[in-house]
Formats: sequence, structure tokens, C-alpha cells
Amino acid sequence: MSNNLVTTQLNITGAKCAGCVRKIEQALETVKGVNKASVNFADRTAEVEGDADSDQLICAIEEIGYGASVIEDENKAQEEREAAEHAYYLKLLKNMWLALGLGIPIMAWGLLGGEMMVKPGISQIAWLGIGAVTLLVMILAGGHFFTGAWKAFKNHSANMDTLIASGTGAAWVYSIAVAAFPSLIPELARHVYFEASAMIIGLINLGLALEIRARGKTSQAIKRLLDLQAKTATVLRDGEEIQLPVEKVLQDDLLRVKPGEKIAVDGEVTEGKSLLDESMLTGEPIPVEKKSGDQVSAGTINQTGTLIYKATKVGKDTALAQIIAMVKKAQNAKPPIGRLADSISAVFVPVVLCIAVIAALIWFNIGPEPKIAHMLVAATTVLIIACPCALGLATPMSVMVGVGKAAEAGVLIRNGQALQVSSEITTMVLDKTGTITQGRPSVTDITATSDFDQSRVLQLAASLENVSEHPLAMAVVEAAKSQQLDIVSVEDFDTASGLGVKGNVEGHSLLLGNYRWMQQNQIDVTSVTDAATALSEKGETPLYLAVDGKAAGVIGVADQVKEDSKEAIERLHQRGIRVIMLTGDIEKTAQAIARQVGVDEVIAEVMPEDKANVIKDLKARPADGTKANVVGMTGDGINDAPALASADVGFAIGTGTDVAIESADITLMRGSLHGLADAIEVSQATVRNIKQNLFGAFIYNTLGIPIAAGLLYPIFGVLMSPVLAGAAMSLSSVTVVSNANRLRLFKTSNQKPETGGSHS
Ligand code: ADP
Ligand code: MG
Repeated sequence: MSNNLVTTQLNITGAKCAGCVRKIEQALETVKGVNKASVNFADRTAEVEGDADSDQLICAIEEIGYGASVIEDENKAQEEREAAEHAYYLKLLKNMWLALGLGIPIMAWGLLGGEMMVKPGISQIAWLGIGAVTLLVMILAGGHFFTGAWKAFKNHSANMDTLIASGTGAAWVYSIAVAAFPSLIPELARHVYFEASAMIIGLINLGLALEIRARGKTSQAIKRLLDLQAKTATVLRDGEEIQLPVEKVLQDDLLRVKPGEKIAVDGEVTEGKSLLDESMLTGEPIPVEKKSGDQVSAGTINQTGTLIYKATKVGKDTALAQIIAMVKKAQNAKPPIGRLADSISAVFVPVVLCIAVIAALIWFNIGPEPKIAHMLVAATTVLIIACPCALGLATPMSVMVGVGKAAEAGVLIRNGQALQVSSEITTMVLDKTGTITQGRPSVTDITATSDFDQSRVLQLAASLENVSEHPLAMAVVEAAKSQQLDIVSVEDFDTASGLGVKGNVEGHSLLLGNYRWMQQNQIDVTSVTDAATALSEKGETPLYLAVDGKAAGVIGVADQVKEDSKEAIERLHQRGIRVIMLTGDIEKTAQAIARQVGVDEVIAEVMPEDKANVIKDLKARPADGTKANVVGMTGDGINDAPALASADVGFAIGTGTDVAIESADITLMRGSLHGLADAIEVSQATVRNIKQNLFGAFIYNTLGIPIAAGLLYPIFGVLMSPVLAGAAMSLSSVTVVSNANRLRLFKTSNQKPETGGSHS
């Protein structure tokens, strides 16, 4: 790989709330050598760019009260993370039962009319006893909140633990004070709130447990990709066959794969012949034949024969490993829409602490009796209800599910920006060759002028094109080969990109290319223009051949449109997207193809270097009067790179085996344009989901805090109970995670049954 940036992957423990994300990132960024750190709250990992010492990174995280370990091996890390998560989940459940086991009976007592006020004497002793038990339960089931809060405090910061610890702590301290010294407290305020402390701790443990359960499901896409990797490989070393774990395979090792086994690393076949199922990488359901010299990719499945192949790329360099890394990275990415939420959560806790203090002061100074009890309830409730968890989870949860969903559809999204912008696309520009069409042109017919015959035209053209790598060139050469024509060598060969080629064959000077190429070389082609026009009306590309300055013939090359291009373009139309075809081919041919697939506009005869400018012009064109155009560009990424890069979002059609298409924001692993429609539908669904989450979390906090502070009291005379706040708080993050999980069920319009006729 060209970039020598070292990245370190860390597992993070102890991060309970999204407010921690920025804090951990900042701590990592202060370590020497770190360029950038980004924390994925959804799967509790951090990615650190730069050559920092990993021990120092871990130290930096531990210093601010969290834990960290280096991820060495992705597979193992995933397993370890799952095991640790599960243990944590069980512990949270245990905590929950313990806390609710105490909280529910006390609460029931209160609700059933039991005395919750402390009177001097026997009730005082009973309440002191219950207070002691509550303290024990708080330490056992909620100790992690208190130690977390303490660590943050020592660090001059505050987090979710601070809110929970101060909320439940205040309720307990007040209650124990009432129980111990009732005479010091005004009579009306001698109420105890032990059940609140216990219930809140129980409910928050429950909320965290539910969140883990739901979160486990969001990373299924990665799990599925990791499962594609072979665990072991059969390596031939020194004439012996040995079974090795796949990590131990070295470059240039020879490997044997039997029918039904997975290809372990990327390689080149040296012996044997077999059919390979590559659908997991290319989406192509038909098995591909592989023989000596062919490339094979890790994760694909060998079906019929036994192959021996030489390892060309191992470990992190295989296409599959790169796909996994890319999906993981994108799942970590934050689309611009989520950044606001992150900055809000970062300042949220101190702000809430202030609001709690202000609410307390107001109740104490101008509230009705019992002032101290009201003051306590309002402050505690504000502290508990105001956790920014839902806000912080809103974006990363949806991105995680959405990016995974896209990966399942063969769409690799590079970053959060691309995800968001592709949901906003108004104009989609499609390259013609290889994007709308199959990109496998073939010669259909040949017209020769009177001095030549058809096979001579083809033979000369093929000899000239033999050194060119243009798809049209390959079509010409192939046609000549299939007619067993003699292909001879060419001298002084030259390519004019977007126009054609020239060179000397058998002493004749040859030109082959489009009309403009002939014009530029002052060739009179009137004798063959009729034939050329007929070809272009059928949607074929006419290639003119000139020999020694005279027109010699026209070769018609047809590139079939992909059979599903029309359908996929229709799906884009349904999303209100204008579809434009961009090509270097002549107008007439382009129009004929455009009619077949139903694009809205054709921009033809564009030289390769001008394609990027066309995209820039389209971006400046208003979409519907006022809004700016958001322009997507789809190409095969070979000569379209500048155009892909200048679009708002560049989509590269690639096969899964060459994922490293650098200029594209999104790679479509399948050749079909349905992948493009899928990408847009998934991104729109994901952004919609993020917006729902953000909206919900925002409403929750803007309504919850004022109500908790007592805003309804003057009107209805009620104050929200801290227990209800604990339940609402837990429910809010569970709601966000569940809503994100709903995305997993999202089906692209292509997957949905057509007219509801079919079952399943
Ligand atoms: P596209 O936009 O379809 O990728 P190009 O920009 O590569 O097309 O080429 C535009 C036109 O230039 C082709 O349609 C063809 O007429 C001519 N041309 C380019 N390269 C060659 C070649 N090697 N041989 C013949 N014609 C060529
Ligand atoms: Mg092209």
C-alpha cells in the first residue's frame, strides 16, 4: 500500500455514554505521534492514525478513567469483544435484578399507601435499616457508576456516571438524613427516596443491557464478511502438504484447494481447472472458470476441481480483508448530520448540572412547601432524565446498520459524507461504456470501399489495434482472430485519447477512429458516411479506417446494454433523480442507446479530459429553480477518475476483486446499475433513520428536562418522580437503538415483491 500511515485499533471498555466519545478522542490526540483518533461508540473501538506507542495510548485512556487494549487480530478481537460483551450483559442483568429486587418492594409499599414519611421512633430505625441495605445495593449494583463519576471528577470532567451518581447519591443522602435526624427537617419534607435510588440504578442497568442486546445485531454484516474468510489453508512446502492457520500463509506459498473448500488468500492458479463461486465478492451468481494463470480471491468457494495456486496477497492485503477494513471504517464514520449531536453531547453534562442547580435554587426560594423535598426531587429527576445517550447513539447506530446493509447489497461506502450526500443526489451522470453497456463491445459488420475487401479492412485495423488496450480495440482484435486473420506488427503507434489511433502496418500509414479523428487528419470519408450513419442509428459505434490518407472502410462495433440497465434507471427516476449519459462516443450512437434505456439527457462527444468539466457545469446548474444540483457520477473508474472525483459523490463500478478504486466514494461490487439504485435507496433510508433518531432524542431532552425541573407543577401541581425519569432515560436509548435496528429490515425496491402477488 502506498500510504505509510500506521493505524492502531483499540478496544475500549468502560465507555457508557456517547458523551465519552469526544473525551477519549481528545485524550488519544494528545499522545505524541497521533494524527487523528476516532472512537466508534457503537462497537466500542478506537482507530488511531499515526505512529504512537500503543502503551502510551492505553495509558492515556486509562488516565481518564476508561480501559483499552490493542486489537491484534480482527477475528480474535471480534470473538473476544463478543465474549466480553456477553459477560458484561450478564453482569448488568444481575445488577438490575439486585437493584429492582430492593426498589420494587419499597415502591410498592409506598404506592399501596404505606408510610413513606419518617416519624421519630420505630419507623426511624426501620428506615435507617432500609437505608443501609440500599447503600449496599447501590455499591454492588451501581458501584461502576460511582467509580466512573469519581474518575471523571478527578479528571475535572463530568459524564453520564456523574449524572447518575449525583442523582441517586443525592436521593440517598437526603433520605438517610431524614431517617437519622428527622427533627432537623421540616415536618412535611420528612419523606424518604430510597426506592428511587435503587429503582434508577436497576433501570439504567436494564437500559444498558438492552442496548447491548440490540447492538449485537447491528454488526452482523461484518460478522458475515469475517465468516467468508477461511480459517485454515493447505500449503505445499518442501513437497509436503501442511495445514496452516490462514494467518501463517506467506506470499509466494503454493496452496492446494479441494472442491467445496474456500480460497484462503488472493493468488494465481498454477495448476488445475475448476469452477469458482465468486458471488460473495461480485454478486455474479454464475460460477467462473479458473485455470492456470487466472486470479483467485480469498473468500470465494471452489466448486468442482482441485486447484493449486500461488499466494500473491496475504493477510491484510487480500481484497476481502480490504473490503472488511473499508466497511468497518465506514461504519465508524460520522456523516456531517451527526456532528452536531456529538458537540451537543460533549457540553451536555455540565449544562445539565447547571440546570439541576438552578432548578433546585428556584424550588428552594420560591417553591411551595415542602421546599427541600421538592428541591431534591426536581434536581434528582433532571440529573437522571437528562443523559445524552440517545442523542449520542442516534447517528452511529444508524450508520452502522446502514453501511452494513449496503455492504450486503454489494455496495461499499467509503465514508459518512458519501453516505449522506448520496441520499441527496438530484442528478446522476452515467458513463456509457461499461456502465450502461456491458463494456464488452464486439464487431458486428464491416463496410469496405471499392479498393478493399472486408477481411483486409479488419486485418489492418486489428494489426493497428493489437497494442491498444481500449475496449473497442480488443473487439477489433478479437474479430480478426476469430476469422483467423493474420495480425502483423505495427510501427510508430500512437493513441489520440477520445479520438482513435494511428500507426504504420506493412508500410501503409493507418488511421482508425471516429469521425472527428478523420476530420483532424483531413480524410475524406463521404464514401462511407451512409454506412456509418446506419450503424449509429442502431446504437453501434462506427470506426473509420483510413489507409494512406484515403477512407478504406467502416467497422461497426456494438456494445450491448446490460439487460437490467433500463430497470435500474427507472428506479432512479422513481426517486426523482435526473439521469444523464456522458460519453466520448458520437451523438447518434449515444442517442440510440439512450432511447433503449430511458435516460433523460445525453452529453456526447466529450473528450476524456473534459468529462470533469461537464460534471462541474452540471453542479452549477440549479436543480429545480432554487436548489443547487447534487451530482453523482458513475463510471468504471478507469478513465473516469477525474470525473468521479469532481462529482459530489463518485460511484465506481468495479468487481469485488479490485476494491481499491481510490477516486470513488462508493464502490459497487456488482456490475449492475441496480447496485447504484440500491446504494441510493439504502443511503436515503439511513439518513431518514438518523433524522428520526436525532429528532426523537432531541424532543426527548427538550421536553424531558423542563418537565423534570417542575414546569408542569404550576399548571397541574405534579412533579415527575425520579423513578419515572430513570425509566424514561433507559427507554430513550433503547428506542434509538431499536429504531436503528429497524433499518436491518429495510428492503430495496428491487427486493420487494412486485405486486404483492408472491408470498414470503
Ligand atoms: P467512452 O466515453 O465511451 O469511454 P472514449 O473517450 O474512450 O469513450 O472514446 C471515445 C471515442 O473515441 C470512441 O467512441 C471511439 O470512437 C474513439 N476511440 C477511442 N479510442 C479508440 C481506439 N483505440 N480505437 C478506435 N477508436 C477509438
Ligand atoms: Mg470509458
